[in-house]
Amino acid sequence: MALVANRLERFLGTPRQSGRLPAPLDMLVATILSQNTSDVNSHRAYTALRTHLPSWEAVAEAPESRVRALIRVGGMANQKAARIHEVLRTLKKQYGSYRLNALRRKSNDEIIETLTRLDGVGVKTASCVLVFSLGRDVFPVDTHVHRVCNRLGLVSGCPTPEKTFVAMKELVPSGKAYSLHTNMIRFGRLICKASRPACDRCPVFDLCRWPERGTRRGRRTVPTKSRYDFMLLDNIPA
Ligand code: SF4
Repeated sequence: MALVANRLERFLGTPRQSGRLPAPLDMLVATILSQNTSDVNSHRAYTALRTHLPSWEAVAEAPESRVRALIRVGGMANQKAARIHEVLRTLKKQYGSYRLNALRRKSNDEIIETLTRLDGVGVKTASCVLVFSLGRDVFPVDTHVHRVCNRLGLVSGCPTPEKTFVAMKELVPSGKAYSLHTNMIRFGRLICKASRPACDRCPVFDLCRWPERGTRRGRRTVPTKSRYDFMLLDNIPA
């Protein structure tokens, strides 16, 4: 596992987390907006929402149609606007405000349990809040990370990202979760793509356990650095 982390750092660099992290609720909403779209488009949606409705009170009080229009560029606007409103309503009811700062005193497992009780918030979204807002050493698993972990044989018998998340908990070297997560996403976008992985350019080819490795020709076109390198959750203002 440490070998994979080191090779990816040599290949893609060592990502460094900003010293100033955004508030948990900002991160939660950003992660909801990131579902099923590119980071570039979800960043546009997040920026439009915060520019036109700068407080979470304003978002909660705005008609759902307004929220929908502002986030449309990020896709699935109907579902995401409803989800954001529902999360804000629930927080107001439970905590009396639109803040999640009480999470800072809780353990990682408690935070995941608290957040996943919110409608439409899964383990991946909760673990992104843990890393990108609270600076915890937790390894979120999205579809890219899930695919790469399974192809490399780091986990086996894990049919879903949630199962891979649980299995990887014990495997990620201490202090490496942020770097490994970030680099696995970049690696999944750039090299180990879903349908046509570029195995001929793979820095961990010798470690890969995927039976189909090297049999599918990856496209020679390489996505621009901004497409594979830009991480929405590293670009939410503190
Ligand atoms: S050898 Fe191919 S399938 Fe295996 S990790 Fe590398 S790019 Fe992915």
